[in-house]
Amino acid sequence: MASIAAEALAARIKAAHHIVVLTGAGVSAESGVPTFRDRQTGLWAKYRPEDLATPEAFRRDPETVWRWYEWRRSILEEIKPNPGHFAIAELEALPREFALITQNVDGLHAVAGSRNIIELHGNIGRTICSVERCVVSSWTLAGSAPPKCPNCGAHLRPDVVWFGESLPERPFIEAQDHADRCDLFLSVGTSTVVQPAASLPFMAKRSGAFVVEINVDLTPLSHVADLVVREKSGFFLPSVLELLK
Ligand code: NAD
Repeated sequence: MASIAAEALAARIKAAHHIVVLTGAGVSAESGVPTFRDRQTGLWAKYRPEDLATPEAFRRDPETVWRWYEWRRSILEEIKPNPGHFAIAELEALPREFALITQNVDGLHAVAGSRNIIELHGNIGRTICSVERCVVSSWTLAGSAPPKCPNCGAHLRPDVVWFGESLPERPFIEAQDHADRCDLFLSVGTSTVVQPAASLPFMAKRSGAFVVEINVDLTPLSHVADLVVREKSGFFLPSVLELLK
């Protein structure tokens, strides 16, 4: 039987004209992708992700940072989207204005069938030159990692936004525009602490949207959201979609 929260959200979705979904690492947790709040395993247990995903770490020790991303990519090769990703892709198919904004770099929303995805933090599947920022799709590794850009010889790096770096301008402007105009905003599996993405649900709330948080834990948004659902997104979202059929 559907929960009261699922029924409440389904009713909001039916009445909404413009729905925005913001996702974070929690939406991929049920697929087996570790969040940054999860304890690191194996080789990487002695590092904090916040100490590796930075431009300073890359300058200091590019090989370790590159190897960490190789490890994260190797995890992703085995991984599939979960029912939460598929439910979000189904929301996009409803006849309403819709935007999916993600902080995730894992590409799982696209695999699940989402089409218009605003990727705020890049995509781990892409590699760029650390100087020219152009996308590089093939390289040869001569000597130690990371490989070098075939054009200019600088180190290659993953096309992700590291802590302390600015977000790509256009996607964030687009995300702000949707947050400002929507009437229903779902914040799913994000700790709502990494700025500036964390500002989006608050902006939506200020602009009059009904804000829903779906997260297994308390976040800074919990006290502000109109509906807080303490359930796993991969369990809760499909139950809402069922009510829309
Ligand atoms: P985060 O790790 O800070 O927070 C994850 C949140 O998800 C937590 O609040 C946790 O309580 C919640 N959560 C965990 N499992 C859940 C579930 N099954 N259902 C609902 N909620 C669940 O992640 P963040 O807020 O996205 O920010 C951290 C940064 O880490 C971002 O910049 C992101 O780019 C990066 N990151 C991305 C990935 C990925 O692409 N999958 C993985 C790790 C980190």
